[in-house]
Amino acid sequence: MELLSQLYKIVAKSGQEQEIKSFVMKCLKDVPLQFATDDIGNVYITKGEASSYPCVAAHLDEIHTPCQREVIIDGDTIYTVDADNNRVGCGADDKNGIWILLHLLRTEPTLKAILFVQEEKQGDMPGCQGAKACDLTFFNNVTYVIECDRKGAHDVVQCGKGTLLCDEDFIPEYLLQKYNYQMVDGGKTDVVELKIRGLEIPVCNISCGYYNAHTTDEYTHFSELQKCLSFVKEIVQKV
Ligand SMILES: [Zn+2]
Repeated sequence: MELLSQLYKIVAKSGQEQEIKSFVMKCLKDVPLQFATDDIGNVYITKGEASSYPCVAAHLDEIHTPCQREVIIDGDTIYTVDADNNRVGCGADDKNGIWILLHLLRTEPTLKAILFVQEEKQGDMPGCQGAKACDLTFFNNVTYVIECDRKGAHDVVQCGKGTLLCDEDFIPEYLLQKYNYQMVDGGKTDVVELKIRGLEIPVCNISCGYYNAHTTDEYTHFSELQKCLSFVKEIVQKV
């Protein structure tokens, strides 16, 4: 849980993603990867040489007001408190997705990954600014995009706010059953924006073990985050 604890301590309000971006780069400094970035700050990562790649996605920013945080681990549950021991949001939405991406970039020989900035709404400014501005040609040799940015432990979002993301059979039934996931309708996140922009490949958004996102009571069940990692790893190896 050390890596996750480190991520939860980092302040990463939308538009202020520099510190968490530096942390991610530091974590990956020993892994042979190609990095690129764009004007808004999205990070594009390619590992290995292949004619086509699966791609994993997460967003770098969080919604919470910056403060110093201490990580509390209570059995399988992880959350954060401030200096006065009051609960504060840990940004598991979407640091859990970043945690998954960091693991897969270490273990998988060929993979693409994208980290979006400014997914969360800020005041009157709508969310998904990073996804709205990203370079879609990065996906020219990508077969599908899996984002891990969904609450809970059982959902594969295949339709986001009325936008079809992938077909019902995109993930084989035996894998859904093995990891106890099901196809559902859900809300907006970066991959939904990619589809709205016309990306033609399948995308989906998968539950990665966080609860009460956007509140001070945000927490993660670590075993469910680990289950998500195993599920996504098996998808990128077999689908
Ligand atoms: Zn999110």
